Amino acid sequence: MRTFAYDRPGTVADAIAAGGSAQYLAGGTTMLDLMKLGVLHPQALVDIGGLRQEHSAIQADADGLHIGGLARMADVAGHPAVLRDYPVIAQSLQLAASPQLRNMASIAGNVLQRTRCSYFRDPSWRECNKREPGSGCAAIGGVNRLLAVLGVSEHCIAHYPGDFANALAALGAEVELAGPDGARRLPFEELHRVPGDTPHIETNLRPGELITGFRVPAAPWMRRSLYLKIRDRESYAFAIASAAVALDLDGGVVREARVALGGLAAKPWRSHAAEAVLQGRELTEAAATEAATAAFRDAVTHEQTAFKPELGRRTLVRALLDAAALEI
Ligand code: SF4
Repeated sequence: MRTFAYDRPGTVADAIAAGGSAQYLAGGTTMLDLMKLGVLHPQALVDIGGLRQEHSAIQADADGLHIGGLARMADVAGHPAVLRDYPVIAQSLQLAASPQLRNMASIAGNVLQRTRCSYFRDPSWRECNKREPGSGCAAIGGVNRLLAVLGVSEHCIAHYPGDFANALAALGAEVELAGPDGARRLPFEELHRVPGDTPHIETNLRPGELITGFRVPAAPWMRRSLYLKIRDRESYAFAIASAAVALDLDGGVVREARVALGGLAAKPWRSHAAEAVLQGRELTEAAATEAATAAFRDAVTHEQTAFKPELGRRTLVRALLDAAALEI
């Protein structure tokens, strides 16, 4: 048995003061899982569950949508304004995890979930640069069917497994942070890092920083958005490929397109390349296919992931055409 210190502060300021090298605990659906597996063994946990009441509000107004970091996944997924004005967010959450987990997990914790790479989650494997820097990567040349083809490096090909984060990336959200040096905002796209030669550093959070909320800009056309998730079974499974898309159409012509991909990349993957292809074009199947081709131009595959670029392209084409056909 491993012992650890436990603290349950009453304010964000107290949580940050108690933070230091401790790990924050909210819903616990990732942290406790990985502690039981022996992947994480924090010396101290700072339980921020007691801050939920003040930091879980969901507010939608003319400026956009604001979601407190401790809002539960289920509450965001079922919020009337989210369902009406940001369907890609609602769908990404409805299609994630099980109802039990959605009722427990915080959305801040959800965006910070860790890869499902089986070598990362099994400490009996020595080689995992993410778990043990410098130890190697058992997945390259091993079991890697679920893993990434975009944003990978020679040191790690792990995928980012979440859904909601892809919707935030597509919609150009910002993440609100509080830490020892005060509060700041970060474009959501900049929260996660690609592995490079430091796969164990997954985010640009500073030591002791806490996610306090998310801000999504207002745009009526975001009603024309959706999340398409392809997985091995239809419930409680992670994406093999997914697409979060939003379209601003003038007739059939794209004024603005937003595209993010999931299940295929090392981080929530906004595809500016696909968006650029679509800008100013009529959204035909040919244009969608061209955009999807651009999205995977830099894909790097391994033996078991060779199918993923094609699956990703088809997923994106279908998502774009389905979004174009929505009546809003
Ligand atoms: Fe570890 Fe990344 Fe390699 Fe998986 S892909 S074994 S997480 S280094």
